[in-house]
Amino acid sequence: MMWLALIPLWNVQAQKVQLPKGKKAAIVLTYDDGLHSQLEHVVPVLDKYKIKATFFLWAGMVQEEDIPIWRKVSKKGHELGNHSLYHPCNAGINPDTISGKCGSLECYSIKEMVEEIRIMNLMLRAIDGKSVHPYAYPCSQTRVWEGDFSKPLLEAGFVNYARTDDEGGFISDLKNFNPALVSSFAAHAGYKLEDFLPYINKVREAEGVGVIIFHGIGADWLTVSDEEHLRLIQYLAKQRDIWVAPFSTVLDYITKNSK
Ligand SMILES: [Zn+2]
Repeated sequence: MMWLALIPLWNVQAQKVQLPKGKKAAIVLTYDDGLHSQLEHVVPVLDKYKIKATFFLWAGMVQEEDIPIWRKVSKKGHELGNHSLYHPCNAGINPDTISGKCGSLECYSIKEMVEEIRIMNLMLRAIDGKSVHPYAYPCSQTRVWEGDFSKPLLEAGFVNYARTDDEGGFISDLKNFNPALVSSFAAHAGYKLEDFLPYINKVREAEGVGVIIFHGIGADWLTVSDEEHLRLIQYLAKQRDIWVAPFSTVLDYITKNSK
């Protein structure tokens, strides 16, 4: 009779994340909003240490003269991601208006939100030639007035994975992995290397995948200084057991190899 009691335990067993040989964990670096400071302060540092990252572009922030530069960034192997045209968030956080209309997220229908993301995807395609991109929810919010749009967004077919912010979550069990709600850890203004290490170590102990969100580096908003960003990059470059790669590269790998 003993073995019968073990069956439920077997069923709830976690499905371990498989990573490339020699790697114990993966860390994905993501930079939001398409800020000019990222081109000036981030890309040269990443290139120097041969680290590839993902940049989630918000059309409203992208400067015209930066478009050929973003194209070069993509050609170097960094990933461009979708962060919408207008960056709609719930009212009170970022109540943007579009020609006087309510631009808050709760004023959108699911169809309108998915359509906005589709048009942003076309803009990205014109820059990098790719037809599918990952998405980062502005303000990490996923609800329009009709409800949660994360599932319909992925079903539309032009977004492969979508990043949310659940304050330090990470992927360690493929059974709980939802490509429409990928966990992450957001850098606050003034964060130092020591503020990232507990998260990185937790991900390494769990042999999982962690995602870090940045905004401004050395300028703009929610700013992490150039010095502390550089310390983090230098730290990651030295960790032989941590795989640092773009968002879709890592998520494609774990979903294809962890079956
Ligand atoms: Zn944003």
